[in-house]
Amino acid sequence: MSSHVLHRNSLVQPPRAVAGDGIYIIDANGKRYLDASGGAAVSCLGHSDPDVRAAIIEQVGKLAYAHSGFFSSDPMEELADDLIAHAPAGMEKVYFVSGGSEAVEAALKMARQYFLELGEPDRKFVIARRQSYHGNTLGALSVGGNMWRRRQFEPLLIDASHVSPCYAYRDQQANETAEQYGLRVANELEEAILTLGTGRVAAFVAEPVVGATSGAVAAVPGYFKRIREICDRYGVLLILDEVMCGMGRTGTLHAIEQEGISGDLQTIAKGLGAGYQPIGAVLVSGKIDRAIASGSGFFQHGHTYQGHATACAAALATQRAIRDRDLLANVNIQGENLQNALTAQFANHPYIGDIRGRGLFRGVEFVADRATKEPFDPARKINAKIKKTAFANGLMCYPMGGTIDGQLGDHVLFAPPYIVSDEQIGDIVSLFAKTVDQVFAAEGLA
Ligand code: PMP
Repeated sequence: MSSHVLHRNSLVQPPRAVAGDGIYIIDANGKRYLDASGGAAVSCLGHSDPDVRAAIIEQVGKLAYAHSGFFSSDPMEELADDLIAHAPAGMEKVYFVSGGSEAVEAALKMARQYFLELGEPDRKFVIARRQSYHGNTLGALSVGGNMWRRRQFEPLLIDASHVSPCYAYRDQQANETAEQYGLRVANELEEAILTLGTGRVAAFVAEPVVGATSGAVAAVPGYFKRIREICDRYGVLLILDEVMCGMGRTGTLHAIEQEGISGDLQTIAKGLGAGYQPIGAVLVSGKIDRAIASGSGFFQHGHTYQGHATACAAALATQRAIRDRDLLANVNIQGENLQNALTAQFANHPYIGDIRGRGLFRGVEFVADRATKEPFDPARKINAKIKKTAFANGLMCYPMGGTIDGQLGDHVLFAPPYIVSDEQIGDIVSLFAKTVDQVFAAEGLA
């Protein structure tokens, strides 16, 4: 059947998804897919939540949408109150958008405007990390360190510098403790600021737990505290990108809570509306809000659908469901279960080098050699084959990687809905084990 949709991959017609049932998606042929990645760490309540559905229907019945250049709305105000009541210290306002890339773009522009309001126009540089992902729009792509996604658009990107990620499995040396390692890589930020010139750097951007480039890599203890100190010393804003790792995914509402610091701006999306509606936001600290309010009084930005009433109603119902049903407790319990089950299954697997993560955000890293941690030749496309074979087996897991321009390895991310049960964790691991066996047998590596 030919399609007029320009799909992500023009050569592949994906199956049509027609229904959701808890953590399963059902296609037009009646095949059921266990959504072990929540799509891309989005569907934290599964695909048939009655409360979110009711909230959407109720809001559409009253008023689906009113342009934010004219109106506020009850769902937008209530969602902002709810988010700030549970936000990291210092966050006072919420700027709504429709997704993760839009949130990153807004945060970058807000950082720039903040310094213009303060009379520091030379602060225009942004520093980020290699092996990171912040979105696909040109600004977000510029700060991202995913070389595969950036490469063909390099001439269009804005100037951003990149320092090392905090990636202990790959980079911690035998002669250093985790803390020493964390300080070493955090100090690269200070060197980068000094190289660019103090007074010229506006912001540093980082994911508290890296998602879409290296599969659930958390920083070592102390890394983010040191990052915060360096930002404070040089007056650089800290933008935390929690689009993927936030809103409960790692077992606390915000991943940064586990590091004992807060950012100046924090992006959130995916788990905010659980995929029931497209929505993202920037949490804005008081000092930035005050600088804009007492300066030009107008954040020079905006999108047609920001603060969309139905999207906000869906997100509010999502956040209430997470709290009222105590789902973060399940995230922690099932996260441990998933880690333990993956470890029990693959601890001695010759081609799995690392199993890691927090909460229901877990990554598996494939290696050609466990002792040297040498990655597979990217031409083998291990991660893509895992995704494809898993999908044929009725399992959704999120692949990433391929060694390109210094970016290492094949990874698979698991980010199941927060409602996942013990039994379903068992199903995820056994379908994944079957998939891994099939892929390596087909590669002649069994
Ligand atoms: N930031 C991070 C950390 C992400 O993981 C993503 C999406 N994977 C984005 C930004 C971009 O979000 P979106 O795809 O909703 O534009």
